[in-house]
Amino acid sequence: MTATTPTTSAPTDSTATASTTVTHWIDGAERASTGDAEQPVFDPSTGEVIGAVALGSVDDVDTAVASAARAAESWGQLSLAKRAGVLFRFRELLVAHTDELAALVSREHGKTIPDAKGEIGRGLEVVEFACGIPQLLKGELSDQAATGIDVFSWREPLGVVAGITPFNFPVMVPLWMAPVAIATGNAFVLKPSERDPGASLFLARLWQRAGLPDGVFSVVQGDKVVVDALLHHPDVAAVSFVGSTPIARYVHDVAAAQGKRVQALGGAKNHGVVLADADLDDAADQLVAAAYGAAGERCMALSVAVVEESVADALVERLAARARSVKVSAGDQPGAEMGPVITAAAKARIEGLIDSAEAEGATLVVDGRGYVVPGYENGFFVGPTLVDHVSPEHTVYEEEVFGPVLDVVRVSGLAEAIEVVNANPYGNGTAIFTASGEAARTFRRGVKVGMVGVNVPIPVPVAWHSFGGWKDSLFGESHVYGPEGIRFYTRGKVVTQRWPHRDAGPAAVSFHFSG
Ligand code: NAD
Repeated sequence: MTATTPTTSAPTDSTATASTTVTHWIDGAERASTGDAEQPVFDPSTGEVIGAVALGSVDDVDTAVASAARAAESWGQLSLAKRAGVLFRFRELLVAHTDELAALVSREHGKTIPDAKGEIGRGLEVVEFACGIPQLLKGELSDQAATGIDVFSWREPLGVVAGITPFNFPVMVPLWMAPVAIATGNAFVLKPSERDPGASLFLARLWQRAGLPDGVFSVVQGDKVVVDALLHHPDVAAVSFVGSTPIARYVHDVAAAQGKRVQALGGAKNHGVVLADADLDDAADQLVAAAYGAAGERCMALSVAVVEESVADALVERLAARARSVKVSAGDQPGAEMGPVITAAAKARIEGLIDSAEAEGATLVVDGRGYVVPGYENGFFVGPTLVDHVSPEHTVYEEEVFGPVLDVVRVSGLAEAIEVVNANPYGNGTAIFTASGEAARTFRRGVKVGMVGVNVPIPVPVAWHSFGGWKDSLFGESHVYGPEGIRFYTRGKVVTQRWPHRDAGPAAVSFHFSG
């Protein structure tokens, strides 16, 4: 049970057995599936099975949504002050239990403990943003809009909303959604990734201990069956999705066809542009951290360095030295800077893409294939990999690798760099490294990308701005969290009000608004 339950015992306890199944969380309690489908959960560092996850059915979704719909009725009526109180208590619990939660995430995902704490910290920011819900939901009033008439507007919750999340941030991405959805008065049903499901139940228990009424936060574990049931359920008003582009496009199209509000964030290929005037040591440090951190399994990872030809050799030399020195080990090992990738299949796919780079004529400067970490010989490790002379026609460039592989594309200067960035179908994040304010300004205005960093490699917006890409990185109108999150989970109501004087004459028959 240690891998999945937020008890006070250490989730990394080596006595953990392979016999526990992560279940659903419905009506404020763990609940087994109606069917018996399940799949194994691995420790990616050892390659061992450490448990299983239930794969829910349509019936499980029906039960969860029915419970959520009941809960949404009263939760949406609760005062803003009381809702904010729950958010504040949840925030305190999340801080108090960060170490246990980070250990659980590291065990199921493989990322290092500091990295797991980092993702919890970024999720915490959104909780703190949502604590300000009384301020965020303040409406507008036009007193005396016309003679004797006042007009006022505010936003109301949608009811039941669903979140479908990826494996790479099992805490942060659910926390991009749930605190905002719940603070605005909705009930939230989470379908986490089946690859690292334990954090979802940990969060469910913290919500309960914070005083959230049963049914306002539910979890249905599973795969496509659960996703499809949520997309077709008539009582699910809105769907937030984060994952790969093909599934994001599918979720968007199906949910929209069902008349639901939908935001679907997809994959990415993020370019870090290095101009000749950049501090090359700093740029190399930032690129290595952003390419190999979390084994490259971040939607904002910088996976392509677009480098001005005149400094390309000097930069590649620095990148190679740093890539070779990254400390790769199990996520819970002291000093580990990079852990394994998520599954054996992911490792095989990434190594296949490195094969293709070599076969198609790119230059393999640092080769991470066949990487072995002593003591973890069966872990799903791929070493930091650096590929030079990559062109946009290479498969390793065309695909989102989602592993520790950094491509180097050489360009003549800023104009060509912007062309390369804009020719890519994705538009999630990008960054520029330069000493020139003018070049940075030209870049940030010229790129067709949703989130831009200037000498900042991973420009994930703080919680009171909103997160989202352009083009194939986002389907739907709305970015997540921040002001756009508040709007996504609510709808507006406007009242035009008049209290006629007793002696008022008869109403005009014509449509009339003279002011
Ligand atoms: P994924 O698309 O495989 O899975 C995401 C979710 O969709 C999971 O809950 C999964 O169970 C479900 N799913 C998978 N196949 C499905 C299908 N055929 N039908 C219905 N549902 C299905 O993504 P992943 O591998 O878990 O995560 C990595 C991907 O997520 C990468 O592409 C990464 O760029 C992307 N990502 C994007 C962002 C962003 O903000 N844009 C953030 C994190 C991750």
